[in-house]
Amino acid sequence: MVAITGRNALPAAHRIVVKVGSALLVDEDKNTINTAWLAGIASDIARLKATGKDIVVVSSGAIALGSRLLKIHNKTMSLQEKQAAAATGQVTLAHAWMDALGAHKVQTAQILLSPDDTETRRKHLNARATMGALLELGAVPVVNENDTVATAEIRFGDNDRLAARVAAMIGADLLVLLSDVDGLYTGNPNDNKAATHLPQIDQITADIMAMAGAANAQYASGGMVTKLEAARISTTAGCHMIICDGRDPEPLSRLEKGATCSCFIATETPHAARKQWIAGALTPRGTIAVDAGAALALRRGKSLLPAGVVAVDGQFDRGDLIAVEDQSGRVIGHGLSSYSAGDAAKIKGHKSREIETMLGYRGRDEMIHTDNLVVIDN
Ligand code: GLU
Repeated sequence: MVAITGRNALPAAHRIVVKVGSALLVDEDKNTINTAWLAGIASDIARLKATGKDIVVVSSGAIALGSRLLKIHNKTMSLQEKQAAAATGQVTLAHAWMDALGAHKVQTAQILLSPDDTETRRKHLNARATMGALLELGAVPVVNENDTVATAEIRFGDNDRLAARVAAMIGADLLVLLSDVDGLYTGNPNDNKAATHLPQIDQITADIMAMAGAANAQYASGGMVTKLEAARISTTAGCHMIICDGRDPEPLSRLEKGATCSCFIATETPHAARKQWIAGALTPRGTIAVDAGAALALRRGKSLLPAGVVAVDGQFDRGDLIAVEDQSGRVIGHGLSSYSAGDAAKIKGHKSREIETMLGYRGRDEMIHTDNLVVIDN
């Protein structure tokens, strides 16, 4: 396998999350969209999409744009003013992406997420499935935090972590944080001439964390601390992460041509990391027993369909972890259930096409999708 570097990570990736900060997208003095820059990144994205890659954008800028529209001063906003600004500016932000990507005939979709949408498994499954459907249909989801319902203070830099959570949720293999610095330095490059640039980080050690410490926090908007937290979330989910300077036009093309950047290397594939996450997840909330045919299918990497289920036990909700047993009571796997215990009991033994008539809604075809299932070897 070819070693991943900042230069080859982009061409090698299949599913890429690109995080765009307010500082790049919004002109700081006027609080208007930097349309020329947006046109450049949109053309970068369209080009990558044309090569068959899935692209998700995490875009900030709602608060900055909204503060101008509502004529509130950017720097002194209360939480509810920020939320009001976000609600207002998000409309402009989504439109701007729609126009810029639309110029390349690429469809935009808006997704607003709260942190617990990525952490609660039930919501996580929904958000993941929606995002998967959009990518399959060729759209570019443009994600921002759902600032209007945020309960905690909205902090610039939150979108770094949001982007990492999105990357983990959708099994992206690369996250690119477009920033106003070209990566991580051993110290603050603005006032420490001896500070050196780190092109590749294989492990986020305490020493690395210290480099982004309080003294250096200001050398990028959003700060290095949140970027390193994003790197930790992303690399443990099997997704490489790059920090690069996004200020030039078409920054993704520049990256492919070898622009300076810091690349945080993931040690596993997103698939293996997701399986580990499931394997290490909480104790199962219930058990499903399956027939011999389904047990064999699961061992061969297939999804579990309702038709193969013979018994349902326990109180679980959609998205909860459940154990799968064969008919002799031996646990053969763990997975996240697409149905609650009650609904699972109703559709057990039935064909997937009967689900809608039985439950009154068209749920997923699988009781447990193979991506959400870990087979236990025994
Ligand atoms: N969600 C905020 C906005 O769109 C920005 C948060 C961030 O930049 O990290 O204005």
